[in-house]
Amino acid sequence: MAGADDWKTGTVLVRGGSKRSPYKETSEAIFLTSGFVYDSAAEAEARFAGTAPGYLYGRYANPTNTMLEERLSALEGGGVCRLTASGMAAVTAAIMCCVRAGDHVVAGRALFSSCRWVLETHLKRFGVHCDFVDATDIEAWRAAIRPDTRAIFIETPANPTLELTNIAAVAALAKAVGARVIVDNIFATPLVQRPFELGADIVVYSTTKHMDGQGRTLGGAVIGPADWVTGELDPFLRHTGPAMSPFVAWNVLKGLETMELRVARSIETAGRLFALARAHPAVARVLWPGDPDHPQAAIAASQMRGGGTLLAIDLRGGQPAAYAFLDALQVVDISNNLGDAKSLATHPATTTHRLLDPAVQAELGITPGLVRLSVGIEDPRDLEADVAQALAAAAAATAG
Ligand SMILES: *Cc1c(COP(=O)(O)O)cnc(C)c1O
Repeated sequence: MAGADDWKTGTVLVRGGSKRSPYKETSEAIFLTSGFVYDSAAEAEARFAGTAPGYLYGRYANPTNTMLEERLSALEGGGVCRLTASGMAAVTAAIMCCVRAGDHVVAGRALFSSCRWVLETHLKRFGVHCDFVDATDIEAWRAAIRPDTRAIFIETPANPTLELTNIAAVAALAKAVGARVIVDNIFATPLVQRPFELGADIVVYSTTKHMDGQGRTLGGAVIGPADWVTGELDPFLRHTGPAMSPFVAWNVLKGLETMELRVARSIETAGRLFALARAHPAVARVLWPGDPDHPQAAIAASQMRGGGTLLAIDLRGGQPAAYAFLDALQVVDISNNLGDAKSLATHPATTTHRLLDPAVQAELGITPGLVRLSVGIEDPRDLEADVAQALAAAAAATAG
C-alpha cells in the first residue's frame, strides 16, 4: 500500500491533507471560527512562542485551510502553500515578498490585466521597476534580465492570447542573477504544467478558476520554498491580512476532488471546438496550446501535458463578428470568468483588457475580433452545435 507521499495525483486530489476531527466525518470539516481557546495562560504563552502546537487566530491559520494548503503543496510536488482571499492577493503577496525599493523585475507583456497593473503601476510606488518583454522571445528575456533583477513573473499560457513562455529557459537566465521565478500557473492548472520541475521558485494560483471549478468562490494560493514562506511570505500575510475564509477553503477542497475529471473533459472538448473553429471560414486564427501547429508547439510539448481548457478565437469580421458570435451563443454564457464547469466566452478588448491603449492591445494580439472561450464540461455535442451556430452568425455579420 502506497503511503501518502507516493500517492498519484488523482488520490492526492481526493485525500491529500485530509485530517479527521474526533467525530470521524467522511467529508472534510469546515472550522468556521475566527479564534481558538487555550486551557491555561501558560498554554497561550507556549503557543504564541511556538513551543506548543496549535492555532492562534484565523488570520494566521485555520484547520480547514491547513488541509487545503497541504493538499495543494502535495499536488504541486513540493514547497509550502499559503492561501489568500483571491488569486490577485496571491500574485501581489508573491511579488511584494520578492522585492524591495530599487529592485528590478521582468515580466511577459501579455498578462492577466490586474497582474499587469500590480507590476506596472503599483510596484512603481515603492521604487521597483518592471520591464515587460515579448515572452515568446527568449532573447528578449536575456536582454531584459539584469544583475539587479530580483523577480521574474511568467504567465503561461498567457491571458488572453495563449502565448507560451519557455519556463525552463527563462528560469536558467534568472538563476544566473539570483532572481526568483514566479509562475502564474492558473491557465494551465497543476495537472497540465508543473513549474517546479521546470525551475520555478514560486507558483501562484487563483483557486477561483479550475480548483473551485464551479464558479462559487474567490480564492488564491502561493506555493514556495519553506525558507521564503516562513521568512518573507508568512509575516506579510499575517500582518496585512488577505486570509481565505475557511468556507471558501472547504469549497475548494470539494472542487479539487473532481478537478482531474473536469479538466480532462474540458481539454478533450477544447480540442473538438478547436478543430471546428479552425476549419470555419469566419475564423482568421484560433489559438490552443494543444494544436500541433501552434506557433510554439515545441514549448507546449516540452512543458505541458495537454492543450488546456481555453481557446482564443480571432474572428475575421473584427468586433461586429465577435459581438455577433457572443450574442448568438445559447449554451455558452458571456462571462469573463474561466475554469468553470459552465463554458464561458468573453471579448477581452472591450472588457478585461479595455484599459490597455489600442497600440498595446495590438502589440499583444488582442484584436477587435478576438474571443476567449473557456471550455466547460457540458456535453461536447451541445457545445459543438452552439459554437457552430454562433460562428455562422459571425459569418453572417461579416457578410452583411
Ligand atoms: C483569474 C486570474 C488571476 C486573478 O485571480 P482572482 O481569483 O480573480 O483574483 C490572475 N491571473 C490569471 C492568469 C487569472 O486567470
